[in-house]
Amino acid sequence: MIPIAKPYLTQEEAQAAYDTILTGWITQGPRVVEFEEKFAQYTGANHAVAVSNCTTALHLSMIVAGVKEGDEVICPSMSYIATANSIKYVGATPVFAEVGFDYNIDIEDVKRKITSKTKAILIVHQIGLPADIDAFSSLCKTHNLILIEDAACAIGSTYKGKKIGSHSDLVCFSFHPRKVISTGDGGMITTTNEAFANRMKLLRQHGMSVNDRVRHNSKSVIFEDHLEVGYNYRMTDIQASVGIKQLEKLDWIVEERRKIAAKYFEGFKDIPGIVLPFENEDKTTNFQSFSIYLTDECTLDRNEIMQELLDKGVASRRGIMTTHRETAYNNGSYHLPVSEKMADRSIIIPLYVPMSNEVVEKVINEIKSILLHN
Ligand SMILES: *Cc1c(COP(=O)(O)O)cnc(C)c1O
Repeated sequence: MIPIAKPYLTQEEAQAAYDTILTGWITQGPRVVEFEEKFAQYTGANHAVAVSNCTTALHLSMIVAGVKEGDEVICPSMSYIATANSIKYVGATPVFAEVGFDYNIDIEDVKRKITSKTKAILIVHQIGLPADIDAFSSLCKTHNLILIEDAACAIGSTYKGKKIGSHSDLVCFSFHPRKVISTGDGGMITTTNEAFANRMKLLRQHGMSVNDRVRHNSKSVIFEDHLEVGYNYRMTDIQASVGIKQLEKLDWIVEERRKIAAKYFEGFKDIPGIVLPFENEDKTTNFQSFSIYLTDECTLDRNEIMQELLDKGVASRRGIMTTHRETAYNNGSYHLPVSEKMADRSIIIPLYVPMSNEVVEKVINEIKSILLHN
């Protein structure tokens, strides 16, 4: 069976975790600080704040952005459900906008949905493809809104020649194994705003004024105060030590993913009825996922294609979910035809590192034979 994804982990990551365990300091400590510094350096951001996962990264971003009960935040429905959940956590209302056939939030629909209650716009760099950050950034300036980027999938992608993470004040990343690099679970927020960074560092550790590492290293007795009601959203040093090793490999991993994607583009180039992910001069993707969209010209049933692939030993996944149709959100008030179509007519196919030529060929050939012989 050819899996849909596989994290690239080696002896080095295992050794790093092993070494950290033997230091005796296993929760947030020196390795987290090192990972943050290296992550900020990699993305070109001023500050990086490590947390337990991308969902908590988004939650802290909502808090420091000042999003509260009664506010609205515009985001795509077609995203992983955590995007919208982070808005709910602060008592605000997610307002779902459409996406385009580039998988990203549609700015024209966002403009239509801005009201006096809108506080922020949460864009998602879906499957690693950057949204048009500058356009959203200037829209936010015009309407005095805060821009938040859900970059869970987009580590190593670029926008206008710079890495995702360096363009705005609140950019949230994930290190779940389904993403391009992994720490088991884990998240990071990059920001240019020092006050945001400091407040998020407080909030991730119970609002504690002095962290335990500072107390541990202090020559005099110091007592902490709890400055506000915080959370336990810490990343552990074990995770961070794995993350440091993963970060060293990231550019290579992205390069390898792009080589595999190039073979897919070549292999699928003459097949009618499908649209492949596209980049332009402003954007490069890490190909966190490789998605195939089936147009109206393709008369096959998406789920049947997936079953046929599975029967032939090739795993696939349905396209990205739409949040407004999930039970937790489905109040019947939304109809987002493009998002629904994209979600129902897309197939995510295997892409991981390393992936041999034979395996890539098999995926291409099985998909081609299903799509061409119907
Ligand atoms: C994976 C993902 C998340 C959640 O990330 P976790 O680290 O698992 O919390 C949020 N948003 C998007 C777009 C994702 O793909």
